[in-house]
Amino acid sequence: GGSLDVYEKIKSLCEKKNLNVDTVLDIHDDKGAIGIKKSGCHGFCEAGPLVRIEPNNLLYIKVTVEDCEEIVEKTLMNNEPIERLLYKFNEKVYPSQESIPFYEKQTRLVLQNCGHIDAESVIEYIGIGGYTAFVKALSSMSQEDICNEIIAANLRGRGGGGFPAGKKWIQVLSFSSDVKYVICNGDEGDPGAFMDRSIMEGDPHSIIEGMLIAAYATGATEGYIYVRAEYPLAIQRLSKAIEQAREIGILGKNILGTPFSFDIHINKGAGAFVCGEGSALMASIEGERGMPRVRAKRTVEEGLWGKPTVLNNVETFSNVRHIINNGAGWFKNYGPQNSPGTKAFALTGNVRNTGLIEVPMGTTLREVIFDIGGGIANGKKFKAVQIGGPSGGCLSEEHLDLPLDFDSLNKAGAMIGSGGMVVMDEDTCMVSVARFFMNFTQNESCGKCIPCREGTKRMLQILDKIIEGNGTLEDLDLLEELGDTITKTSLCGLGKTAPNPVLSSLKYFRDEYISHVVDKK
Ligand code: SF4
Repeated sequence: GGSLDVYEKIKSLCEKKNLNVDTVLDIHDDKGAIGIKKSGCHGFCEAGPLVRIEPNNLLYIKVTVEDCEEIVEKTLMNNEPIERLLYKFNEKVYPSQESIPFYEKQTRLVLQNCGHIDAESVIEYIGIGGYTAFVKALSSMSQEDICNEIIAANLRGRGGGGFPAGKKWIQVLSFSSDVKYVICNGDEGDPGAFMDRSIMEGDPHSIIEGMLIAAYATGATEGYIYVRAEYPLAIQRLSKAIEQAREIGILGKNILGTPFSFDIHINKGAGAFVCGEGSALMASIEGERGMPRVRAKRTVEEGLWGKPTVLNNVETFSNVRHIINNGAGWFKNYGPQNSPGTKAFALTGNVRNTGLIEVPMGTTLREVIFDIGGGIANGKKFKAVQIGGPSGGCLSEEHLDLPLDFDSLNKAGAMIGSGGMVVMDEDTCMVSVARFFMNFTQNESCGKCIPCREGTKRMLQILDKIIEGNGTLEDLDLLEELGDTITKTSLCGLGKTAPNPVLSSLKYFRDEYISHVVDKK
């Protein structure tokens, strides 16, 4: 059984034993009852289902329905830890979540509430300081002050582009318009990435708070959260959070008795990868086919329905409340000055500890893969890491000490993208990996422009030919030439970045391509 089965079993066992059970109890309260609740994702996927027990501060891993009786009898009724359910590594037992190396090396700002609060309770969000940043902004800061604070923090867009969010905001503020919009991009389409999904499912109010602050700062009155339909729980929790925010007067007309009005709608996307691209996403919200548009003007000036629009992604909005509450200087304590703050990554592939992690920008790949990830699974050797999903690149051992930030990764031919990180061991065929990503982008190409539509198809054919053993050395040059042309001439980000996995693997793993090639010269 999964986490929900474990939850139901513990609840029913407690009820059977006539324990005072409260499923909505704030765990920080001491009312003598046992509070049992479902939380968002704790991040440690490899070890799930997880049960966190407070105030004992215990984290039980790989819990099954069969373990529940013992958990209730020993831990809940008699305060006794069960050692076999605790995390162990190299003979050492780690009772608390914070002491486990997977968590110890992380800095969780945007994921701080995920797995700790009931995502469906606005009371719990307020209880941990939620909406104080918005109230502070609304009551004591001017619109310029807020934009300038976000600019000073150098909060760069976490959706991949890395454009400074505050600069977008101040531009939207500078345009006068009867209507302005704030859009949250929750269309996370990279294979292997689930950071935004976890925030939407685990801490939806933090996104609403970030959007509220952006709206107040720029004079926007309407907001949209664009979520892919494949994320039903995220949609359900966001919808509930929006309803709750309306009920307590945080969303709607004349918020908290001020002239400021703002409301948020959810827009479900149909799962097209290209809809993560700004102009395609806005076309989709407008009811058109989700295809990128040639834009004469930028989104900040002519965005949704031709009006000034703030467009940021889920993780970017989740950072906003921390900056407003603690100041830009505090935010810049994390990471390098050119990419301050933290970044969430979905760590997957051949690594021991897969899961959702958050580290200060500038943390090295080695720290992420070996300290947090626990190294390569099954005693194998590290070979490569693919960062940034289909738009990103494959990096090799020589990059292990590369700091994870926007600029360093771009220089190495990869990109943070939205934060997918797939680790590969010595048995992985890099040509097959490049083909996997090329096949993905080829399928997702909307077909509007020729370089992307035809070019990716040709690149895929050549990769197939190489994998089948019929490639030539000329094919490698052709791949590079095609990749270069597609990058330079495609209309939108999907096409511009589609060749990245092939180009970066050709650069860093060329020997492997050569070993596949039958040279017919
Ligand atoms: Fe469509 Fe690709 Fe052109 Fe983007 S680059 S508009 S996805 S065909």
